[in-house]
Amino acid sequence: MYELFKSPAFDNAVTQFDRACENLALDDWLRDRLRFPQRTLIVNCPVRMDNGKIRVFTGYRVQHNLTLGPGKGGVRYHPDVDMGEVAALAMGMSWKCGLAELPFGGAKGGVAVDPVNLSLSELERLTRRYTAEILPIIGPNKDIPAPDMGTNPQVMAWMMDTYSMTEGYTTPAVVTGKPVIIGGSLGREEATGYGVAYIVEDALRHFEKRIPGTRVAIQGFGNVGTYTARKLSEMGCSVVAVSDMQGGIYNASGLPVLKLLEIPRQRGRIQEFKEADKITNSELLTIECDILIPAAIGRVITKENGPKLRCKIVVEGANGPTTIDADDILEERGIPVIPDILANAGGLIVSYFEWVQGLQEYFWSRDIIFSELQKRMHNMFRKVSDYAKEKGVTLRMAALMLGINQVAQAKKIRGLYP
Ligand code: GLU
Repeated sequence: MYELFKSPAFDNAVTQFDRACENLALDDWLRDRLRFPQRTLIVNCPVRMDNGKIRVFTGYRVQHNLTLGPGKGGVRYHPDVDMGEVAALAMGMSWKCGLAELPFGGAKGGVAVDPVNLSLSELERLTRRYTAEILPIIGPNKDIPAPDMGTNPQVMAWMMDTYSMTEGYTTPAVVTGKPVIIGGSLGREEATGYGVAYIVEDALRHFEKRIPGTRVAIQGFGNVGTYTARKLSEMGCSVVAVSDMQGGIYNASGLPVLKLLEIPRQRGRIQEFKEADKITNSELLTIECDILIPAAIGRVITKENGPKLRCKIVVEGANGPTTIDADDILEERGIPVIPDILANAGGLIVSYFEWVQGLQEYFWSRDIIFSELQKRMHNMFRKVSDYAKEKGVTLRMAALMLGINQVAQAKKIRGLYP
């Protein structure tokens, strides 16, 4: 079984899981069950390209567990997507939903493709074919996709439309993160980044530091990075470095975030901003700052750069940006890590609001959404930090233990059938 998923991302996720299980003294059968996904689907999608040729793209949808409700999790379009990575991300969604006490199981999807190399109509055809292929296992009560790296509200609109046309009626609650006009939620676009910023606020308070002038470095200037930067600068932090896939920019006395937000996001163009020093993505990670926010891809903080980090706190905007070795190094160095399943849960939480609104066909105001989101993020931070203190473990371990335990206890109490 293990060979099916073997990959650096899955190894990381399983090692984290096994470590948390030791601390929880979880029954062996629960460990065996939750170490691997409940259900995985591999699909091969033939797509007609603009030049008339047909290319076949491999996609996945993995449901790690469906104990607490329908599967929930994004769809990633990235050339490195493989079964192991999707399974690792699906497992992470289970713990994230458990920690947030949402009525969802964990799921994730992905297609091995570089969306930047596709035209808009190729992207649409790929999305519709992928949706058609995973259709038997998705639905508002089965599994609800959302955006992730490389996908966006337009992709969700095509998924929703393909599902709805096949079923014969409009089904907004089959995906979240869709445009507001077709039943998306106000605030979903900003939710992950704003949530990261709320958690930064909590972390600063927790470690008895003040917000004004706090120096922040953000790796990744996509959906998560941009909204994190915007909210943090509104709060009075100084964003000293940001980067996208081509590289980054740095100014020790702070970057003008609003100006940076005007630069078109696609294809990595942040270095077009000339009034700052150019830095590489790896330089960004070791810059001197108060808060380092990896908000791009996984496994960027490693045993190589872990000893060189010069931040005071790491806040994980991305999923899985810190390797196990790096986690140990940072713990030894006394640099706290606010884990992904806590720090970036804002998107998932507003996805939950969107799903509820879709099912009820009753829509909330922005004010209600952000005040509910803020309340939930702050409560989650308190829950995790109290538990970490009580158990004498790191914030990552506490968050994982809480998330895993939620799923495991639900599984136990439901029992086995058939
Ligand atoms: N892709 C996001 C995540 O990793 C959002 C998932 C969702 O909203 O369902 O949490």
